[in-house]
Amino acid sequence: MSNPANTAPSTSRSTSKIDTFACEWCGLTVSTFAADGTLRNHCPACLRSQHITDHVEGGPSQCRARMTPIAIAVLRTGDWMVIHRCVRCDELTSNPVCTDDNQLLLLRMAVRPLAQPPFPLETFGAL
Ligand SMILES: [Zn+2]
Ligand SMILES: [Zn+2]
Repeated sequence: MSNPANTAPSTSRSTSKIDTFACEWCGLTVSTFAADGTLRNHCPACLRSQHITDHVEGGPSQCRARMTPIAIAVLRTGDWMVIHRCVRCDELTSNPVCTDDNQLLLLRMAVRPLAQPPFPLETFGAL
C-alpha cells in the first residue's frame, strides 16, 4: 500500500461552500461547519484540534502541532467551551462545544477535577 501524496489544498476563507477536513489524529472526515452553522475547529470524535490560528497575534500560525482538549469552561450563558492546549508551544484556546461533540470525552474532562481533587475532601465532611 503506497502512501498518497500529501498535497495540502490551499484553504481560502473566501469560499463559502461546505468543506470537510480529515482529522489529523483519528482520521475522521469532519465538516468544517457544525449542523447549526458554527465554524468547527476541533474533531467531534476525539475533540483534538490543530494549531493553525495564532490566537495571540490573530493570524495563521506556523505551529500546526496537535492541540489536545484539557478542560471545560462554562460561560455565563451556560454554554460550554473546550479549552485546548498546543502540545508544542503551550498556547491555550477556548472553543464552543458543538452539539455532536463526543459527550463522553466532554463529561470525562468536566468531572476530572472532582475525581482528582488536589486537597482532601474529608475536610468538608466535618462542616
Ligand atoms: Zn479526531
Ligand atoms: Zn502551537
